[in-house]
Amino acid sequence: MERKKETHEFKTEVKQFMHLIINSLYSNKEIFLRELISNASDAIDRLNFKAQTDSKILGDDTDYKIKITPDKENKTLTISDNGIGMTYEEVVENIGTIARSGTAAFMQALEKSKSKDALTPELIGQFGVGFYSAFIVADKITIVTRAAGEEAATRWESTGDGSYTIEPDTKKSRGTDVILALKPAEKDEQDFTEQWTIRQIVKKHSDFVTYPIVMDVEEDEYETDADGKPVKDKDGKPVKKGTVVKEETLNSMKAIWARDKKDVTEEEYKDFYTHVSHDWNPPLTHLHLKLEGLTEYSALLYIPSQAPFDLFMPERKHGVQLYCRRVFIMDDCKELIPEYLRFIKGVVDAPDLNLNISREILQQDALVRNIQKNLVKKILDSLDQMDAEQYEKFYNEFGAVIKEGIHSDWANREKIARLARYKTTKSDGKWVSLTDYVKNMQPDQEDIYYITGDNLTAILNSPHLETLKEKNFEVLLMTDPVDEFVIQSMPEFEKKKFKSAEKGDLGLDEVDESKKETFSSLFEAIKSHLDDKVKDVKPSSHLKGSVSCLSGDTYDMSSYMEKLLKASGQPMPDTKRILELNIGHPVMDKIQAIFEKNKEDESLKDYSKLLYDLAVVGEGGKIENPAWFNKVIGEVMAKAL
Ligand code: ADP
Repeated sequence: MERKKETHEFKTEVKQFMHLIINSLYSNKEIFLRELISNASDAIDRLNFKAQTDSKILGDDTDYKIKITPDKENKTLTISDNGIGMTYEEVVENIGTIARSGTAAFMQALEKSKSKDALTPELIGQFGVGFYSAFIVADKITIVTRAAGEEAATRWESTGDGSYTIEPDTKKSRGTDVILALKPAEKDEQDFTEQWTIRQIVKKHSDFVTYPIVMDVEEDEYETDADGKPVKDKDGKPVKKGTVVKEETLNSMKAIWARDKKDVTEEEYKDFYTHVSHDWNPPLTHLHLKLEGLTEYSALLYIPSQAPFDLFMPERKHGVQLYCRRVFIMDDCKELIPEYLRFIKGVVDAPDLNLNISREILQQDALVRNIQKNLVKKILDSLDQMDAEQYEKFYNEFGAVIKEGIHSDWANREKIARLARYKTTKSDGKWVSLTDYVKNMQPDQEDIYYITGDNLTAILNSPHLETLKEKNFEVLLMTDPVDEFVIQSMPEFEKKKFKSAEKGDLGLDEVDESKKETFSSLFEAIKSHLDDKVKDVKPSSHLKGSVSCLSGDTYDMSSYMEKLLKASGQPMPDTKRILELNIGHPVMDKIQAIFEKNKEDESLKDYSKLLYDLAVVGEGGKIENPAWFNKVIGEVMAKAL
């Protein structure tokens, strides 16, 4: 098919994204080079991975490199790589749209926040700004690319003003050239055609890139004699012959994970983090590991200081790259780090790994499994040893994720449970560990009490907790969706059972049997008025000040669980709950009096419904008919006042 030059519009979100990064990165222009080098390095990684199983793909172009070519005269800067390149279709797909889920998530987050102030560089940094950042320094960008194994090349061009052109082209060899027509540098600004500037930026941001980043430099050449010794003039100075152009490698390519801990500076650790994570906030901490023996590996892992927006999105990538003797094997290596530690970023290098390993085999590979086991242990230990302040920072960001491990990692369940923290009825907004909870239990307290719900204030003030609060028993307030699953996988901690504060009988106070008897026929009547809503009406063991609440049997689903399942689209019948009434409350005596006078009194129906609605309101739920509730309460108040 003969293709002609076509003009396309950028997708709206690309325009927004470009506008945004260009404006917010204004004072940090040089990072565009890091982004382009990182793309080039990724492209070589991908080619190298393919070449493990298809060596012919490289042809005789086997020396991977990234070349930077400044042109002072024409004011251009070219970044070339001999990586995997792109086909015409891939260019259309990758450039000009926002293909990356991270960027899409970012745009969504932005959409939601609606506030330009939220646009801090830290926020943008989380997503890696990628290719588009080049428009900070360039008026026009040209990409000429040829995919590995293809003859045809493609030329893409844009001035960043909303549209781009794409057309077939020719290119001598595989890979991608990104040619930037630079904007004129303003006074006191960096000149990106200056060799010294390029050298310095590469050193600063891309020193660890595993492929050589090269630049042609002119070197003076001196006369030599027949023995190769320099010829000197009469003042003893070497005699200049002319100049030669040499390729200088600008980066050290030092795999810092392979170095000794004591030889790596904090600055280097930080820079490497930016390189592997595309997150330019400094990491919270790092873990530099080396294991020798049967299972041999080295690893440099980081815990970010901020949770990314897509932490809970299923399509989110993991952040750990797998290397074998410094050769990149794959990124997004889920087999090395379990789901519940998916926030970890970094590199694992396993020298004994089979280079031809595929993702499918990786899962069954005994070596990989052992490495995973060991990494998990090290990560959990290091979290356990963090000081309180740092751990709190960690927990605020990743607590909800790490708890998933209690549910999914049976072997480490107890360790992870010790890392879990909860806010409680006594902690005043602070995190409490289960160990501390157990330590602080009252002498007559046997169980660990908890309540689940999505709104901290609502559950903190839940009527279900009244008896427990009076007894001075602490209650764990569980507000993460995952808590519901966690609690099911963890029936006890340090031999203390978990007990729901909202389900089943608390069994703390014996309810006065004779009083119970007095109320029994009224309760029957109330139940008959609410038959479609509740499965039983019972005297409450939870309530002190409030008059009613809803609860479940011990093995019933909690109201929060029901809400979660409904929100996830599961078909769910409404589970009927138990209406608990406080027979110590004066209102119950009044209703009982009406009932004794006339069992058919019309008002009993309204009072039954009111008791039910009050219970719903008490747990932060939505009542069925708020207008009716409003009216009847008004009437009751009018009577009482
Ligand atoms: P990111 O690199 O974060 O995915 P970019 O916007 O920088 O986002 O690039 C978009 C996509 O374009 C990349 O994912 C990649 O598929 C492709 N791409 C960019 N640069 C190159 C390159 N030098 N060689 C091959 N493909 C590239």
